[in-house]
Amino acid sequence: MRSNRDLKNILERIDHKGYPAYKDTKGEYQFSNYVLDIEHVQGDPFASPSQLRITVNGKNAGLPSNYYDKKHKRIAAQDYLLRKIGYEISKNSKQRGSGKSGIIHISRCGQQILERTACQINDRNGEVTIRLEVGFPANGRTINAGELERILFHVLPDIVNKTVLFQNMNIMELDGVMRLAENQYFIRNEMKIMELTAFIADNSVLPRKSGISQQPLENAVRFRSPESMKIKMNLPDGTIIYGMGIPKGVTLIVGGGYHGKSTLLEALQMGVYDHIAGDGREYVFSDSSSMKIRAEDGRSISQTDISMFINNLPNKMNTKCFSTQNASGSTSQAANVVEAVETGCRVLLIDEDTSATNFMIRDELMQLVVTKDKEPITPYIDRVRELYEAYGVSTILVAGSSGEYFHKADMVIQMDEYHTYDITEYVKEVAQRHAYCAKADCERIVVMPDFNRKAHVNKDWIGDRIKIKVYGKDMLSINRDEIDTRYLEQLVDEEQLRMIGYLFVYMNHSVFGGNMTIQSSVEKLIKLLEKNGIKEIFQNQKIPCNLAMPRPQELYMSINRFRKIMNNI
Ligand code: ADP
Ligand code: MG
Repeated sequence: MRSNRDLKNILERIDHKGYPAYKDTKGEYQFSNYVLDIEHVQGDPFASPSQLRITVNGKNAGLPSNYYDKKHKRIAAQDYLLRKIGYEISKNSKQRGSGKSGIIHISRCGQQILERTACQINDRNGEVTIRLEVGFPANGRTINAGELERILFHVLPDIVNKTVLFQNMNIMELDGVMRLAENQYFIRNEMKIMELTAFIADNSVLPRKSGISQQPLENAVRFRSPESMKIKMNLPDGTIIYGMGIPKGVTLIVGGGYHGKSTLLEALQMGVYDHIAGDGREYVFSDSSSMKIRAEDGRSISQTDISMFINNLPNKMNTKCFSTQNASGSTSQAANVVEAVETGCRVLLIDEDTSATNFMIRDELMQLVVTKDKEPITPYIDRVRELYEAYGVSTILVAGSSGEYFHKADMVIQMDEYHTYDITEYVKEVAQRHAYCAKADCERIVVMPDFNRKAHVNKDWIGDRIKIKVYGKDMLSINRDEIDTRYLEQLVDEEQLRMIGYLFVYMNHSVFGGNMTIQSSVEKLIKLLEKNGIKEIFQNQKIPCNLAMPRPQELYMSINRFRKIMNNI
């Protein structure tokens, strides 16, 4: 391998030359504490910046193995390192010269702790890999090698020394991060043992600063569990916390408008992820398979059996194998439920604010006027118990406007001025006096839909020049095929969506086809990732610096929305 001296020589040679001469810097160089790999060199100062990979071997990094010997610890440690590196980089990144000259960029972490390609710790030997971008500096199109030398020989070594070498870390802080990760992991396990779908610790801060900020709201009313639902957790670090445990079954969240119902549900939606200390939701959890279900008119549906909700459509469309390019509110929500069950989801989170009313409920008077044979929809209220009793799928539902769900609920929580009350007993009593007029002719779901849907292999995506692009979290485009992900509310970072793009291309090439169903394809992929890590997807190609792991659920849901790779389209 070449030494950093060789790199210095190249820089001296190409200084003041035309920009393409930067290509000569490509390759690996040994620095005192790490190997710098210039993996990609940009073609001009305005193009996407050059990509660098820094590998610090386990011995130099010196991180003891108890910081990364379990997956949850490793991810927390990576996340911590990345935040530290990101902070140092932000202090040192400055545009100097033309285009992106002098800009140093690394993935920015939000409130959730995600696995990212920007910083990875090898669980076998403690090697730390950092992926970042640097805009190679130029004046006009003339190389400014002195400035790049400053970045590569002073700025980056300094940052690596400060943040990646264990001897220079703030161990107290790092240990705090580890304790939180252990506690979070422990609570998720306890929830399984106690058969809880969700747990919200006392003193949590649920509301966010604004619709566009995921920071906690200041001076918020802190969460307090009703006595009857209070659960104690003896955490591994010796602390004891209390909080509200939501058991499996059907749980209703009611209360007046603006009393905090949706805020509670949104916190549960995000509770599939672990949050950083100070977020306010670091001890808010929902079953990691939970899925937000909402209406999503306009989405495409492919061969989904929605017959448990929709039958006898006017145009005699087959709802056992339903496809459309433009779903209605109710059919889209029905498909979202069925597909969620297909992913193995155990908890459905539904907010009336984002539901199709006719999917959720049909009142008594309407049942009298529009008879069953004229109404294709079996509303969710007539399926919610069966979903739980026969298929083990729980529901947590915000329903402030219809009392009919009282008859179906195991637990009823009231939000009152942001305080939480267990009103289950009271509701049972009142509801008894108002019998629910269930549709007598509501048949049971005969069998759960059998999920044998398959994905097409998309010939357009075979070859090397596959272009993956994301538009925030809203849209993924692969070559020119687009997928609308605006309503995948549990996708939290555009890096997850970009990763979904790469996973698609991989699956299209190596998994889809033959007898593989969507389910078996995703399962196979997850197994490969568990075994070989992210490099499975990229084989010998460079791993992009800006990817984060999505949940399998969001991967599934993206496949479902991809018009091109589903059959019959
Ligand atoms: P609902 O769904 O019951 O109509 P929301 O959950 O949308 O009500 O909450 C209404 C407003 O109250 C939002 O602006 C939200 O940020 C704020 N809010 C929610 N919970 C709290 C809380 N615990 N403390 C302070 N403000 C809150
Ligand atoms: Mg609401």
